[in-house]
Amino acid sequence: MAANNRTTYDVLIAGAGPAGAAAAKKLVDIGYRVAIAEKRQLPRYKICSGLVIDRAQDLLNEYFGDPPEEVFCAPALLKGVRICPKGDIISDFPLGKPYIYNVWRSSFDRWLVQQSGADVLEEHKLIGFRQAESAVYADIEDPDKELLHIKASYLIGADGGSSLARNRLDSTFNKQVHWNTFVQLYCTGDIELDPEFYYMFFDPSLQAFYTWLHYKDDYLVYGVGTRIGESLSSCVDESTKYLEKYFDLKVDSVNRKTGCIVSDMAVSGNFMPGGGRVLLAGEAAGFMNVFGEGISSALATGHLAASAICEADASGDPVLPIYEELLEPEKRMTVQSWGIAGDLSIAKKQ
Ligand SMILES: Cc1cc2nc3c(=O)[nH]c(=O)nc-3n(C[C@H](O)[C@H](O)[C@H](O)COP(=O)(O)OP(=O)(O)OC[C@H]3O[C@@H](n4cnc5c(N)ncnc54)[C@H](O)[C@@H]3O)c2cc1C
Repeated sequence: MAANNRTTYDVLIAGAGPAGAAAAKKLVDIGYRVAIAEKRQLPRYKICSGLVIDRAQDLLNEYFGDPPEEVFCAPALLKGVRICPKGDIISDFPLGKPYIYNVWRSSFDRWLVQQSGADVLEEHKLIGFRQAESAVYADIEDPDKELLHIKASYLIGADGGSSLARNRLDSTFNKQVHWNTFVQLYCTGDIELDPEFYYMFFDPSLQAFYTWLHYKDDYLVYGVGTRIGESLSSCVDESTKYLEKYFDLKVDSVNRKTGCIVSDMAVSGNFMPGGGRVLLAGEAAGFMNVFGEGISSALATGHLAASAICEADASGDPVLPIYEELLEPEKRMTVQSWGIAGDLSIAKKQ
């Protein structure tokens, strides 16, 4: 995926996640010249359980076709999601399909981006932009820290939850939302739970509002989500003891421990579609469904951003109002999804 030397594109996309890839795929298929600037080298690690639920599977199939074998980890198909309050398993979360894909985000996202057909500028970081009447001028830092100036008719900020594009559009925005912290551990070990399910533990006695666990290849992966400011290590210790006590967790070694922060934009319905000729998609725009499922909305909103651009070019109308209108059903669906969290008292804790 080498970059060419072009500095003018129809659309520049920041971020090579599912939102960026879905936008790129639609635009390239129609004939737009598209570049994706990704700040990391691909394949890149992304903290994620890597579960592709029913809706995401349908969107994948519609936009990209079925994913190849190499993006899956074992067990490749999970039978479902089990919800476990108070040291017990009470229910299987209802799913529209009999299985969930279990993928590694590194290879999954790289596959999506490869399928898009866009020019992919790896290790190219969006650091700023300015807008003119009919174009966006983006400043991109290349791997040698040299500045590259790219002119595009539109910029799609698909640069994830800590979006620089969003921050440049409104530097006060990040202060208006609340942030939660997530940490995930990749361990070797064992637990008395069926490996073909994904588990969510919501025990009000735990500091973490949410503890999760599942298998990925040889790893037992578990993590916690908690409010920013709470001691992460004590949350992890407490959840570990909880899993040891109720489910006989035995950890031999912790091979990797990663964390991130996630805003409550989706929980509060505080989405940000963009500004002018800059559209935000996926988590950058605030889309994430209940239990932290975000691949489906990233695919959907990336695709919608591309649709809005096509419609704006065909009609001569400004792109942002078109995009805002297209996003309405997705916003409603996202906000509704968090109603389930209210029932499980997660939203109250967040
Ligand atoms: C702990 C955890 C577990 C999760 N598990 C699941 C799950 O099992 N299933 C699910 O559906 N969702 C899950 N999610 C949510 C899901 O990971 C995200 O919602 C989804 O990745 C959002 O996709 P995106 O394309 O919007 O952004 P991302 O996937 O975050 O991609 C953004 C890309 O932009 C790049 N970037 C950032 N800044 C810049 C910049 N300035 N210039 C250029 N590039 C930049 C990043 O490197 C990244 O590659 C989980 C989230 C967390 C935190």
